[in-house]
Amino acid sequence: MTAKDTRLTEVGRDPAANHGIVNPPVYHASTIVFPTLAALEAADLTPYDGTRYGRRGTPTTFALEGAVAALEGGWRSIAVPSGLAAITASLLAFLKAGDHLLMVDSVYAPTRRFCDTVMAGLGVETTYYDPMADIAPLLRPNTRVVFAESPGSLTFEVQDIPRTAAAARAAGAVTVMDNTWSAGLHFAPFDHGVDVSIQAATKYIVGHSDVMLGTITTTEAAFLPVRRATSLLGLCAGPDDCYLALRGLRTLGVRLRRHEETSLKLAGWLAERREVVRVLHPALPDCPGHAVWKRDFTGGNGLLSIVLDDVPKRALAAMLDGLKLFAMGYSWGGYESLVVPFDPRKARTATAWTGPGTCLRLHCGLENADDLIADLEAGFSRLAAAS
Ligand SMILES: *Cc1c(COP(=O)(O)O)cnc(C)c1O
Repeated sequence: MTAKDTRLTEVGRDPAANHGIVNPPVYHASTIVFPTLAALEAADLTPYDGTRYGRRGTPTTFALEGAVAALEGGWRSIAVPSGLAAITASLLAFLKAGDHLLMVDSVYAPTRRFCDTVMAGLGVETTYYDPMADIAPLLRPNTRVVFAESPGSLTFEVQDIPRTAAAARAAGAVTVMDNTWSAGLHFAPFDHGVDVSIQAATKYIVGHSDVMLGTITTTEAAFLPVRRATSLLGLCAGPDDCYLALRGLRTLGVRLRRHEETSLKLAGWLAERREVVRVLHPALPDCPGHAVWKRDFTGGNGLLSIVLDDVPKRALAAMLDGLKLFAMGYSWGGYESLVVPFDPRKARTATAWTGPGTCLRLHCGLENADDLIADLEAGFSRLAAAS
């Protein structure tokens, strides 16, 4: 097989089938017409490929789905309108009243809220688990899904996915992983025992902060339940968005390398600052699960968090309001740098956060790293002046 960089240029396109044009075109469709009754009936017999109605997607959707499945090493992929939709549809695909769900405590906050509201209302019980713990003792006879996210949202604890997935499989549960952090490029979920890998393609795959999109990639055995759930929920990704995701994929490898380089440089600089109590980054030896990250991941991205001493809000505002390159916003994966404050104490229930509660999540974009450092340095000066 070719290297991943090469694959990023090959997957999800077929110029020979498209007048020699390099990229697949954007097909818009709701209605699809059939010339004969036989053709209409044949379209009903293909749950995997093709379509008989626009809700299932168009050739643009299928191109993206094929590309993501190939990159993640799954059997098939399904595009949905957001990363959160990918998560919620995957949970609904495998869980019903009376079932039990094991959910990692460092999970993306809206995933937690979905479990605590919609899933609880449907009679599905959720137990949150420590990302560092062996889940085996927590599995119950009715545990149907073990949900993992690694590295964890905001705090980047790295889970032992092979151990987690093996325990789940032995108990007859499906492992669903939020694989957004790796962009599907730096972690191969299906080589590590995962059954369903979701991504917020909104982040690095699209890469330009202008599309909401999710993908659900599965093994062959897990595909039909997920396909049924996304179809019946009416989840349908727009073809323009799928096109932009395909375009983003072409540069994913080079972008991620640059994001990673910059986040490592900033992590090193930040670790030396007296304002910073701790830098959270899976490439640092003191990150929980760092050895597992080195074992299982082939690279990083532009994310890191810093823990600050508790500071007055006006000082934090002085620092953040004046930043020129780090914009404040709740996302990441685009070409631009972002910062957002968070308090880990509010986002977990199975584990305790013992450090100070003033934390910043930084996304290092594609700007020059020294310019980013200068922006933060000026921010720390404002912080000190207003403290
Ligand atoms: C952003 C994000 C999501 C949700 O994706 P949307 O496309 O914004 O709905 C899910 N998981 C992780 C880890 C994310 O960062």
